[in-house]
Amino acid sequence: KPRLLEDEEGGVVFFSPSLASSSSGYGHASIEKQRQRLPVYKYRTSILYLVETHATTIIVGETGSGKTTQIPQYLKEAGWADGGRVIACTQPRRLAVQAVASRVAEEMGVKVGEEVGYTIRFEDVTNKVRYLSFEALEFYLIYLCIVIMVDEAHERSISTDILLGLLKKIQRRRPELRLIISSATIEGKSMSAFFQARKSRHQMEGEELPRMEPAILSVEGRGFNVQIHYVEEPVSDYVQAVVSTVMLIHDQEPPGDILVFLTGQDDIDTAVQLLTEEARTNRKNSSGLIILPLYSGLPRAEQELVFSPTPRGKRKVVISTNIAETSLTLEGVVYVVDSGFSKQRFYNPVSDIESLVVAPISKASARQRAGRAGRVRPGKCYRLYTEEYFVNEMSAEGIPEMQRSNLVSCVIQLKALGIDNILGFDWPASPPPEAMIRALEVLYSLGVLDDDAKLTSPTGFQVAEIPLDPMISKMILSSSELGCAEEILTIAAMLSIQSIWVSSRGAQKELDEAKLRFAAAEGDHVTFLNVYKGFLQSGKSSRWCHKNFINYQSMKKVIEIREQLRRIAQRIGIVLKSCESDTQVVRKAVTAGFFANACRLEASSQSGLYKTVRGSQEVYIHPSSVLFRVNPKWVVYHSLVSTDRQYMRNVISIDPSWLLEAAPHFYQQQRLNPIVH
Ligand code: ADP
Ligand code: MG
Repeated sequence: KPRLLEDEEGGVVFFSPSLASSSSGYGHASIEKQRQRLPVYKYRTSILYLVETHATTIIVGETGSGKTTQIPQYLKEAGWADGGRVIACTQPRRLAVQAVASRVAEEMGVKVGEEVGYTIRFEDVTNKVRYLSFEALEFYLIYLCIVIMVDEAHERSISTDILLGLLKKIQRRRPELRLIISSATIEGKSMSAFFQARKSRHQMEGEELPRMEPAILSVEGRGFNVQIHYVEEPVSDYVQAVVSTVMLIHDQEPPGDILVFLTGQDDIDTAVQLLTEEARTNRKNSSGLIILPLYSGLPRAEQELVFSPTPRGKRKVVISTNIAETSLTLEGVVYVVDSGFSKQRFYNPVSDIESLVVAPISKASARQRAGRAGRVRPGKCYRLYTEEYFVNEMSAEGIPEMQRSNLVSCVIQLKALGIDNILGFDWPASPPPEAMIRALEVLYSLGVLDDDAKLTSPTGFQVAEIPLDPMISKMILSSSELGCAEEILTIAAMLSIQSIWVSSRGAQKELDEAKLRFAAAEGDHVTFLNVYKGFLQSGKSSRWCHKNFINYQSMKKVIEIREQLRRIAQRIGIVLKSCESDTQVVRKAVTAGFFANACRLEASSQSGLYKTVRGSQEVYIHPSSVLFRVNPKWVVYHSLVSTDRQYMRNVISIDPSWLLEAAPHFYQQQRLNPIVH
C-alpha cells in the first residue's frame, strides 16, 4: 500500500513575512516585464479586491497563466504577509513545490528560505526549525496563515480534498482567514457549491467581515490554437509509438520543443533510451535532439535541465509523467505527444487491495495535455489513440482520488486533528463507506484506534506523529520493543524510495548478479540492510554504487530520510537499539506492521501462486524481489503492483505464528482461512 511512499505527496510553499527589508527591489527589470506579460497580471486588482472582500475566492485559469507564481506575490506586495502572518500555497506534487519556490525566489530576488520557502515531507526550507508533516502542517497553517491558496484543486487529490473539508470547517471559526482555490479547469461551479453549502452565519449590520459566499474569477488565457492529430489505428505499444512520433515531428516539423506524456519512471526511462539510440542512428539531424525525462524523484540537476532554455538550433524533448499536465509550465513547447495513459491509484475495498495501475486518462486530462502545445504559438498535439476512442470511450472527468484509494492514512490524519466523526465529515466528494470501514478496521487492528474509534495512547498518537504509512509507523514502534529500531529505520527509509537499483534496461543480467551479492534468504527487507551496510562501509562512495548497480542519488536520499526518521523516533521515545545480525526480530517487527499483507503459498502451486490471508486474492512475487522463484511458504509484502497479475513488491518470509502474536484480534476476526500449517 504505497500511499505515503509514493512521490506524489504534496507540500506547501511558504511566503514568510519579510525579515530583511524587501524594498531592495524585485530583481531585474526583465523579470518584472515577464511578470506583467502573464495573463493574471490584468486581474491583479480584481484578485486583491475579491480576496479582501470574500472568505473564499475560486480562480480558474489555464496552466501557465501565472496563478501559482504570481497570486501569492500579489498578496505579499499588498501587505497580507505583514505582521508575522503567512501566505501559504499548497501543491499536490513535491517536485512542483520545489520548482515553484525557486522560481518565485528568483523573481523576488531572494534566496529560497528567506522570504519564500517550502515544506515537503522530509524537507523544510522555511527558517522554521520544526519538521512539519502534513498533519502538523495543517495545524501550523491554521494558526499562522492568513491566506491559504489551495492550488491545482481540479486534480482532486486526497490531500486537497481533506484540506478543503478542513478549511471549510475552520473558516467558520476564523472568519478573517481567506481561501483561494485555484484550478485549471472549470470545476469552479462545484467547488463553489461546496463552499456555499454551509450553515449561514448570522452577520451583524456593519460588521466588517468578508462575504461567505465564494467569488469566482476566470482568468482569460492567451492560449493559441492547437491542432489535434489522432492515430488511425489503435497502437499496440505506446512507448514505441512515442519514439516514432517524436522522430516524425523532428524530421518534418519546424523548430519547437516536444512534450511527451507517458506514465511513470519505467516507461519514461525506456522511451528516453530508445529515443537516444534512435537519434544516434537516425541519418539526418541526429545532433539536434536533447532528450530529457521528467518525473518526481528526479535528481535536482536533471530537473534544472528540463527548465533551462533550449539552445539555438536544438530541439528539446521532455518525456514526462502527468506532472507536466498542469503543475509545471515548460517554456517553448509547441508539440505534445499524448500516450493517453497515466498511472492511477485504484482501491478495491472488498479485497482491500490498492494498486497503482496504468489506466486511460479522461477527456479533461487529454484537453489539458493538448493545451500545453499552445503556450507560445499555435501548436500540434499527437494523440496516440483514435478519434473514435476519444469521442466515444474516454470518460469525461477523472474520479477524485478520495473515491479510489485506501483511506488508512487519511483517517489517521483526521483523527490526529481531533475530528472524531469521520463518517459525518463534510467532504467535497464522499469516500465510499466500505473503504472508510476498512480503514477503521485496519487502524483498530494496528492498535491505533480504540473501541470508540479514538486514537489510542500512546500508540495511536505516536503513529500519527510519524509522517509515513501507519503500517510503517507501527513497524517502527514495534522495533523499539524488539530491540531492532536501527535496522527498521533503515528499512523504513529504503521503502520510502521508489527503487535503490539503477534501471536495468539492457543490463538485466548484470543487475541480477549485483543483487545476488546482497541477497538475503529472508527477503528484500534484509537485503536492504546488506546494501545499506555495504554503502556505509564503502564510505558512501558513488563508485561503489556504480559498480553494484545501485542508484547513488537514491542512497543519499535514504541516508537523509533515515536521519529525519531517527530524529522523530527519538522524539517520540523509541529505544534506538541495534539487533546486530539477529534477522528474526527484524522480520517480527516487519510482521507487526504488515500482518494485514500476509500471504500463503498455495500448496499445490508450482507456479508461485500465493493467496492473501485476509481476502484470498491471487498474488505472485514480483520478479524484482530476491524471493522471486524462492517462494517461501509464508510471506508479508510491502506493496502490490498490478500488470497482467498482482505482484508483491518487497517481500519477506515469516513464520505464521508471528501473525497471531502481532494481531490476535485481526486474525480471529477473519472468518476466512484460519491459520493452520
Ligand atoms: P499557472 O500556475 O497558472 O499554471 P505559473 O504561475 O506556474 O502558472 O507560471 C506562470 C509563468 O511563469 C509560466 O508561464 C512561465 O513563463 C513562468 N515560469 C513558471 N515556472 C518557471 C520556471 N521554473 N522557470 C522559468 N519560468 C517559469
Ligand atoms: Mg500552477
